[in-house]
Amino acid sequence: MKRYLVQTMGCQMNVHDSRRIEEVLSADGWLPTDEPALAQLIVFNTCSVREKAEHKLMSALGTVRGFKEERRDVVIAVAGCVAQQEGERLLQKARFVDVVIGPDNISELPALIAHAQGGGAPVARTVFDVHAPAFLEATPAPSKLEVTAFVTVMKGCDERCTYCVVPYTRGPERYRSSDAIIHEIRGMVEGGVREVTLLGQTVNSWHEPNADEPADEAPPWSERLARTSQFAALLRRIAVEVPELGRLRYTSPHPRHLTDELIEAHADLDVLARHVHLPVQSGSNRLLKRMLRRYTRELYLERIARLRDAVPGLTLSTDLIVGFPGETDEDFAQTLELVREAGFVAAFAFKYSPRPNTPSLKLEDDVPEAVKAARLQAVFDVVAAQQRPHLESLVGTTQRVLVEGISRTDPKRSTGRTARNEIVHVDGVDLEGAFLDVVIERANEHSLMGRRLSEAPVERPRFPHRLKVVG
Ligand code: SF4
Repeated sequence: MKRYLVQTMGCQMNVHDSRRIEEVLSADGWLPTDEPALAQLIVFNTCSVREKAEHKLMSALGTVRGFKEERRDVVIAVAGCVAQQEGERLLQKARFVDVVIGPDNISELPALIAHAQGGGAPVARTVFDVHAPAFLEATPAPSKLEVTAFVTVMKGCDERCTYCVVPYTRGPERYRSSDAIIHEIRGMVEGGVREVTLLGQTVNSWHEPNADEPADEAPPWSERLARTSQFAALLRRIAVEVPELGRLRYTSPHPRHLTDELIEAHADLDVLARHVHLPVQSGSNRLLKRMLRRYTRELYLERIARLRDAVPGLTLSTDLIVGFPGETDEDFAQTLELVREAGFVAAFAFKYSPRPNTPSLKLEDDVPEAVKAARLQAVFDVVAAQQRPHLESLVGTTQRVLVEGISRTDPKRSTGRTARNEIVHVDGVDLEGAFLDVVIERANEHSLMGRRLSEAPVERPRFPHRLKVVG
């Protein structure tokens, strides 16, 4: 029996790619295992957005080196963004690695494994699928279906944020047709998925692919901006054509593509979560310009104010970088001010670190490490000070919770999320996939404790959301 182990080391896109790797392997007769000693194939699926992920890869590879020396039949593969970025170089750095494979080449994995098992030389396959973009559709085995699932709607990125490695590891933007997206979501929902998150590097720049337009020749910005309202149309189409879907999210949108049409879709579609993760990165216009984010703090704040007007009670989270080259105390003060003004209830904040191939490499990494650390802590403190009263304000209210599974800390409880993305723990098991009405009894530091309104599991309604307006 052929067994594989996939270790996922990165972001949501990376998690999504790991699922596709597992499906490709399963179709080739492989079975999963969590035990390295039982595996004939070990895949490290990497991410290079953060510097630590590369370090993590090198140390993870170190742990299997001896193992590989003892068992020459085991195939070691490295996938994901570090694989794309390093390619052949990775084979030089870790000579016991058999296969290096980029995100666009996952479907070729069985052939490359067979090549390695047949005694072939180590191989790196990292070619962007630009001219005839193929999106690997989810084909989960029935036993693998989950309550929540990701659906890729686009890949790559045409932005050139100066700190970011993604345009170089994931290539130019390519879009999937709405027909294919709807088909995949419908199949998932029929199989039991309750909540779908549309996935893309700048997900709200999605538009219907144009067969006449080569993906490696990006159209002018004016044209691309005119198209961005197509994402709102996609959301409306999903709501109309897959009415059994319980909840719809998307990640990560770019602030400058948060169009009026998208805000209107939020107002109109009950299926859309009442939470948006909208990366801001900095609150200083000077730094936003250096980062090439192509919006100002004023535009960002104006857009989220409109979003909140359209969806009262909507929660926001964000991504932030502290210590970008040239960041002064004044720049950082503006970031903290924006964090307060926006009222984020969660933030993924990171200390800047230079990434390979990125334009910001030319800028001096001049903010001392201790200053970066202090600024990072300050961001976390402000966000925590906002999250706590927000969670406490929900005590005594009834929230609709989609149960995702058993609580990681208490096997007698289940854990789910509200439409506003608050994590809720509730007594009882075997509730996975149910929408429950939960009375919130207590606020923890980052989550809520609640009790089911009725002891009987609430049947998931066939039409859990109502469309107020359809476009
Ligand atoms: S929008 Fe900017 S930060 Fe996001 S993936 Fe593209 S280049 Fe990177």
